[in-house]
Amino acid sequence: MADEDDFSPRDAGAIKFGWWKTNEHFSAPGSKPEAVSRSRDLVEDDLRERTDEYGGSVGWPVIAVDFGRGWQYAYRAQTTRLVDVREESPGQPSKYQGVRDEKTSNRGGLREMPPRDELDITPRDLDVSGLFPSSVDESESDLAAAISVGDEIERRYAERIVNQRLHQPEIRRLTLAHYGTACTYCGQDVPEIVEAAHLIADSEGGAASVENMRPMCPNHHRAYDAGLLVWDGDRFGPADGAPPVGPAPGTA
Ligand SMILES: [Zn+2]
Repeated sequence: MADEDDFSPRDAGAIKFGWWKTNEHFSAPGSKPEAVSRSRDLVEDDLRERTDEYGGSVGWPVIAVDFGRGWQYAYRAQTTRLVDVREESPGQPSKYQGVRDEKTSNRGGLREMPPRDELDITPRDLDVSGLFPSSVDESESDLAAAISVGDEIERRYAERIVNQRLHQPEIRRLTLAHYGTACTYCGQDVPEIVEAAHLIADSEGGAASVENMRPMCPNHHRAYDAGLLVWDGDRFGPADGAPPVGPAPGTA
């Protein structure tokens, strides 16, 4: 039987998990799972929610794995845990699998077959995305991609804004308290508009520390960020070949 060992990671995206009410349900040739998902956890949660009348009395629900070659008996769900039957009871999977695959008629240990109408079910898909790609038309698929990209941008934007809100007022206050409110380059001293400029940008790993900050007027802050001014470790000066950016030092 197929298992992870002879399964190429290249095909990993094709793995599906499905659950059956009991071993007997699984063993019925052609029977379909109650629910299907790429996520074993989702399948297990769903199984636990819906099999009160089965677990333990009629039989333990089972989870099978499809590596792209059909369902393979794998886990048995017991009250408090999921048992990997392939490890704990190596003989069981082949027994049930053999009956299911019609390779053996030996039903030793198996109970009555479940009613036919119980077997004739349509699997519920717990995780639709990508599981049955052919059933998703192009526009839906594009929309899904757009939504997830948007979510990511929104999340990162939110994180960035939160970081700014958390750090910026505090670091500005500390920077001005330490260095004063005059622009480090031109000396313009207008506390209402002075900014705390990063010497090394936070996008380049610069710390939000007083050591890495200097007070700057908005114009020179912007000029520095644009590369028109350079920091030599001690003071700001015009970059080579850069046009002068006012106000000029010492004139503010
Ligand atoms: Zn300035």
